[in-house]
Amino acid sequence: MRNEHLQINTRKPTTGNSEIRNPKSEIGNRKPTTQINVGGVRIGGNAPVSIQTMTTTLTHDVDATLRQTERCVEAGAQIVRVAVPEERDAKALKELVRRSPVPIVSDIHFNYQYALAAVDAGVAKVRINPGNIGSEKRIAQVLSAAKAANIPIRIGVNEGSLEKDLLDKYPSPTAEALVESAMRHVNICEDHDFTDIAISVKSSDPLRMIKANRLLSAKVRYPLHLGVTEAGTPRRAHVKSTVGIGTLLMEGIGDTIRISITGDPVEEVLTAKELLRTLGLADNLLDVISCPFCGRGDAEAGYEEIVAVAEALLEKHGVRIPVAVMGCEVNGPGETRNAEVGIHLGGKELAVLKVRGEKVRTFRGREEVNPQFLANALLEAALQVQGMERG
Ligand code: SF4
Repeated sequence: MRNEHLQINTRKPTTGNSEIRNPKSEIGNRKPTTQINVGGVRIGGNAPVSIQTMTTTLTHDVDATLRQTERCVEAGAQIVRVAVPEERDAKALKELVRRSPVPIVSDIHFNYQYALAAVDAGVAKVRINPGNIGSEKRIAQVLSAAKAANIPIRIGVNEGSLEKDLLDKYPSPTAEALVESAMRHVNICEDHDFTDIAISVKSSDPLRMIKANRLLSAKVRYPLHLGVTEAGTPRRAHVKSTVGIGTLLMEGIGDTIRISITGDPVEEVLTAKELLRTLGLADNLLDVISCPFCGRGDAEAGYEEIVAVAEALLEKHGVRIPVAVMGCEVNGPGETRNAEVGIHLGGKELAVLKVRGEKVRTFRGREEVNPQFLANALLEAALQVQGMERG
C-alpha cells in the first residue's frame, strides 16, 4: 500500500487572489539546524537553501564530467555530486576537485577505501552510510579521516536500499523505517564523536518522504538534504518534487535540495531554482507570467511562440526580473502592470508594452506583432529596467 501514511488535512476554504506576487518573507520560520560547510557552501543554520545535483557521466571520464558539471553550474548548481563505483572513479576525484568550479561531493556505497581516497582527493563532502562500510575499525578510519580533513558526511538513506533487518521489521519501507535507518547511522557517527553531518531520507513516494522528514526533523538538529528519489521523467519528477520538497520547505524543513529527474541534470537544477523562486527562497531570478491563451486572443499573432521566444531570449541574456507576456486585454493589463515589464496582445494586430506599470509603446501590424519583434522589444525594456535596478 503506497499511501497509507499521510493524512492530508481537511481542506480549508480558500479566499481570492493574493495581491502579492512573491511572498518572500512568508516562509520565515525555518527550523533551526546546525551548519555544515561544504567547500565554502554553507548548509543549515541561517544559510540560504542550496541547490545540488548529480552528474550522469562516468566519473573517471573527467572531461565529460567537468563539461556536465559546468553546464549545471551555469544553470545554478552550487554543489555537484559524483558517483564513485570503481577504483578508477576514486582515482579521478583529485583532478575533478582541482578543476571543478563548485564543491564536489563523492557518492560512495560500501567501500571504505574509496571513501578514504575521496577524502584524500579533497572532496568537499562524502555521502556514505557509516553502517554500510564494514567493521568498526573501518568506520572509525573514515570518520577520523573526514574529521582531520574538516569535511562533513551526508548520511543518505533511500527507500530502495534499506537494511534487510529493517525490511523484516517493518511491513514495507515506511517513513519510520527510513528514520530508524538514518538514526542508526547518526548514532554511529555520534559514538565516534563525529557531528559534522547532513542527513537525507528519500523515498520515491513524496508523501512518504514528507512524513519521514517531518519525523526526522523532530529528532535531530542536523541540516536536512531533501529529495524525492527516483522521481521519474520530467513531468512526473516536477510534480513529485514540488509536492515533496515544496511542502517541507513551506514548513521550514530542509536546508539543501536535489531534484531527481531521469534525464539531463541541468533540468534538475533549473527546476530546483524555479521551486525556490516560487517559494520566495531565491531572489533575483527571471519569472515569466504568461496565460494559457484562449479564443479571445489574436490567434494569428502566434502567442505560444511569442512566449517561447521571449522566455528563451530573456534567459539567454540573464534577465532576472518578473516579466509578463499576456494573450489579450482581459487579464493582460493587470498582469503587465504588476510585472516589472510586460507585453499584452490587444485586438487584431495590436500589442502594448508596459514598463513598471506605465504604457510605453503600442505595436501595430503584423510586422510588429510577431514573436521575434515583440520578444526583442521585451528584452530591450527588461535589460533597461534591470540596469536601473543594478544602478
Ligand atoms: Fe484568454 Fe486573454 Fe486570459 Fe489569455 S489573458 S487566457 S487570451 S482571456
